Amino acid sequence: MKKHNFSAGPCILPKEVMKRASEAVLDFDGLGLSLIEISHRSKEFVAVMEEARALSLELLGLEDQGYQALFLQGGASLEFLMVAYNLLDKRAGYVNTGTWSSKAIKEAKLLGEVVEVASSKDKNFNYIPKGYGIPENLDYLHLTSNNTIFGTQIKEFPTTSVPLVCDMSSDIFSRQLDFSKFDLIYAGAQKNMGPAGTTLVVVKEDILGKVSRTIPSMLDYKVHISKDSMFNTPSVFAVYTSMLTLRWLKDLGGISAIEEINEKKAKLLYSEIDLNPLFNGFAKAEDRSNMNATFTLAEEGLKETFDSMWREAGINGLNGHRSVGGYRASMYNALSLESVGVLVDVMSELERKA
Ligand SMILES: *Cc1c(COP(=O)(O)O)cnc(C)c1O
Repeated sequence: MKKHNFSAGPCILPKEVMKRASEAVLDFDGLGLSLIEISHRSKEFVAVMEEARALSLELLGLEDQGYQALFLQGGASLEFLMVAYNLLDKRAGYVNTGTWSSKAIKEAKLLGEVVEVASSKDKNFNYIPKGYGIPENLDYLHLTSNNTIFGTQIKEFPTTSVPLVCDMSSDIFSRQLDFSKFDLIYAGAQKNMGPAGTTLVVVKEDILGKVSRTIPSMLDYKVHISKDSMFNTPSVFAVYTSMLTLRWLKDLGGISAIEEINEKKAKLLYSEIDLNPLFNGFAKAEDRSNMNATFTLAEEGLKETFDSMWREAGINGLNGHRSVGGYRASMYNALSLESVGVLVDVMSELERKA
């Protein structure tokens, strides 16, 4: 039976990418050796790393604009700390829109003063704060473009002279933005790009080198840039698979093409949530994420019936995060419109039955 994987992360990847990646584990490009047993300094793997870095900048429209793309380890969680190590000299601003931004704030506080310029904690993070003031004396302003757990997404980014840093873990490569507005973007691969184990960092080189502290080598973006993202052994399988996903996205027509599909999927699901009296959306309508839709049942008594119905339909990964409850449908790039259709059919079937 066909499975419909709505998992929040690690998440669904394109079938053809998975096939190619698994073949490479046995025999990488006809070398008679596995991708994971050859030297990361071999010309074959260096070419993979270079293509992954180049495709990232190309898809984001950031080529030849002073940006570098790196594939690091430690997840987005290590970036919470690395960003502060490299950029926080005195004072940084953070917009607190959920669990992940709260964790980023905690790490930054180890290295300097953190100004929480806005927060949506008062309503359990079900909206995106807007119209807040941004002090000019900040080293940077940190944002989380998509709040994976709460299902909110920033639609309009603030305009400011303060450098912008953004955690785009769960919506990178899913929609068109003017990425040149950002000085540093980071994203754990496992939400929209590849398996867990690597993190994409896209950084404008000229914001680096301005802090007074000594930065340990592994935490220093400049060190990684100077070694072309090969300071130490990279996560070869995760980088290779991410590269294949980026190729897949480019062949599909790039971000604008996937954005159109992502909008269709989100529209289909949110209109069912809005029209079906048995479901309530969690996030405020104007801030709803096109990647992670959060919703609850209007009557808890229907839980058992609904849960067995979606499981029988081949749906996986629909349970909400414990801090929201209910359900979360993650609709990353590789999830098809057809899969969203299957979920919507189950939801309307429940209405007919109840
Ligand atoms: C999942 C997630 C993280 C944490 O990523 P790790 O790679 O597990 O450290 C951080 N930020 C956002 C927005 C996420 O969705």
